[in-house]
Amino acid sequence: MIHNFNAGPSILPNEVFREAADAILNFNNTGLSILELGHRTPVFTAVMDEARSLAKELMNLDDDHKVLFLHGGASTQFMQVPMNLLDLKDTASYADTGVWSSKAIKEAKLFGKIDVVCSSKERNYRFIPKDFAVPNDAKYLHITTNNTIYGSQWQSIPTTSNVLVADMSSDILSRNIDFNSFGLIYAGAQKNIGAAGVSLVVINEQILGKTKRPIPTIMDYRNHIAEGSMLNTPPVFAVYVCLLTLRWLKKLGGLSAIEKINNEKAALLYNALDSNDLFQTHVVKEDRSKMNVCFTMKNSDHEQLFQDFAKENGVIGIKGHRLSGGFRASLYNALPLSSVEYLVELMQSFSQKHG
Ligand code: PMP
Repeated sequence: MIHNFNAGPSILPNEVFREAADAILNFNNTGLSILELGHRTPVFTAVMDEARSLAKELMNLDDDHKVLFLHGGASTQFMQVPMNLLDLKDTASYADTGVWSSKAIKEAKLFGKIDVVCSSKERNYRFIPKDFAVPNDAKYLHITTNNTIYGSQWQSIPTTSNVLVADMSSDILSRNIDFNSFGLIYAGAQKNIGAAGVSLVVINEQILGKTKRPIPTIMDYRNHIAEGSMLNTPPVFAVYVCLLTLRWLKKLGGLSAIEKINNEKAALLYNALDSNDLFQTHVVKEDRSKMNVCFTMKNSDHEQLFQDFAKENGVIGIKGHRLSGGFRASLYNALPLSSVEYLVELMQSFSQKHG
């Protein structure tokens, strides 16, 4: 048995894999593969409509907030957000809490003035800054709710009178928060939503149409909203996998239910790390991510040994990102509690041998 702690693309529910595989051969008893169906056929438009409305339901969104499934990963949103919300002379505020935030900042600078209102870079992104002010005239404040590489997470969402924009790629749908307090949310699908190749974007449509710059048709969110996320050929299979994952999440009890399980998984692993002399974590406790648990070993000679031991025993995907080193166990929605229990047992037997 394999326990998959990959950071993304990552584990999805087994039933999603099975149903997705069936749809490749015979989609909904049409005798056709989902890969050969026209995207404007009623069978596919029903997929898109249900995926959008399920996301709306799970996130409890009001009618101003529109759900889109757009091409490309979250990195495309790094430019599409400022292109739609910022004029060259305008300023947007960004919180720099990790590698992905700084990539978002770099792209946004092409479209306007960027004010980095806080940063934890000097301390190797080991905490989430709390004391910072956002100028009243900033067009929006951008945060990255979970820092996939360094393993920190905003446990409470900052309150601001500015439009709030969030990259939620690595913790979307993992907890119940007030999604309506955001002007715009984006997330690559390949962690908690479904298959790579599509992003979920949620926009309060009241924030659009305020910039003067000409926006290419395919980049303008208003066109995607008007066309129900079918402006051009959507990544049909990736959207279908998202639908299957959203159905799974609803059946499980939605965001409150998954949040409870996610809290349990994270507590189990952090407790094991805190009580084991061989391992150490670096992010300050109150800002620890419940999705990506990053750790190192006090004796660096142990790292390769533990890596090999984990692999031999069916644990994959725990090698840390090349920038941060060490280990990272990603505990996304579809990872069962039993996999975390298994990893904790492995850590204990490793420390009995080497401690
Ligand atoms: N933002 C965050 C927080 C991420 O974790 C990632 C990918 N791991 C990205 C953005 C980039 O996503 P993509 O590869 O889909 O462009």
